[in-house]
Amino acid sequence: MSEQQPAVTQATLVKKAAPKSDYKPADVSPQRRVQRSFAVRLWSIRHSRLLEWFYSRFADIFLLLHPLWKGIGYGRVEAPVKFVEKRVKGFMFDCRMCGQCVLSSTGMSCPMNCPKQLRNGPCGGVRANGNCEVEPNMPCVWVKAWEGSRNMVHGDKILDVQKPVDQSLRETSAWLRVTAQAAAARQPADNATKTGASA
Ligand code: SF4
Repeated sequence: MSEQQPAVTQATLVKKAAPKSDYKPADVSPQRRVQRSFAVRLWSIRHSRLLEWFYSRFADIFLLLHPLWKGIGYGRVEAPVKFVEKRVKGFMFDCRMCGQCVLSSTGMSCPMNCPKQLRNGPCGGVRANGNCEVEPNMPCVWVKAWEGSRNMVHGDKILDVQKPVDQSLRETSAWLRVTAQAAAARQPADNATKTGASA
């Protein structure tokens, strides 16, 4: 009885027929190329604690500059600030500029990258390998959010319920909005301090 030979595929024949060359492209796998496109996003999640610290200092500096923003006019500084914000956050987090940044509550994983844009945890379709059910090559945004949050000092903010996305705030600066809100929130405290001092 003769042993059955393994079938030779068309791909193998094409490969064998290709002219020999010293040049081999470094990355021809489409799957690897897709995964590589998540590399910076995943780095940011792995370094969520460092970024949490950095963001906190950065927010303090932005708040210190509130008189400057107010003097120039928040409306006037929006365009240049948004230009920088979009590029920095786009590179670091694949930010979609929803204008209501929750990165510090989601382990530095942007929930707007979830194909269903879920803001309060994963859907029921996360794959066994932790990837997304809609985009099989992409790690589930919420699996990564949980991992990132576990490294953070205030990581339990991930348990806070997030409001639905306000689409009217798309393409606006979350940095300026948070700064203006923080400045408004500390105003009653400032007034109380001044009143106490003059009494
Ligand atoms: S698996 Fe994760 S990323 Fe994909 S749709 Fe569901 S929650 Fe969103």
